[in-house]
Amino acid sequence: MRQELDDLLCQRYPELFRDRHGDRAQTSMCWGFACGDGWFGIIDRLCADIAAQVRTGKMPSVVVSQVKEKSGTLRFYIRGGYLHGGNAQTHRLIELAQQQAQHTCEECGQPGVLLDVGVPRVRCAACAMESR
Ligand SMILES: [Zn+2]
Repeated sequence: MRQELDDLLCQRYPELFRDRHGDRAQTSMCWGFACGDGWFGIIDRLCADIAAQVRTGKMPSVVVSQVKEKSGTLRFYIRGGYLHGGNAQTHRLIELAQQQAQHTCEECGQPGVLLDVGVPRVRCAACAMESR
């Protein structure tokens, strides 16, 4: 993800991304947002939803430990993982974002599908043409 969008997420959600420049022995967040710009909107909405729930006390505070693309899917990990991080609502929101990413071009954010472009990636028709 380009620097400008990375910075924007860290500015908007400083609590969630407090490990953004953490030690790589402690967090994978030091690598930044390891996915395309097209998923920015999905990640931004997910973080806004989480931040709102934390603010109103419906969810324990959450620190993100890794955001990346893997095998064409969005991965969004939090400190404590599935068992000890967040609550059921946190995991529901993350799952919803992952489902949205399955149909959103990782390059441009337009509707897309999982394609084989040498590796599995979610792409719209135009971006799929470009990656050939
Ligand atoms: Zn696209």
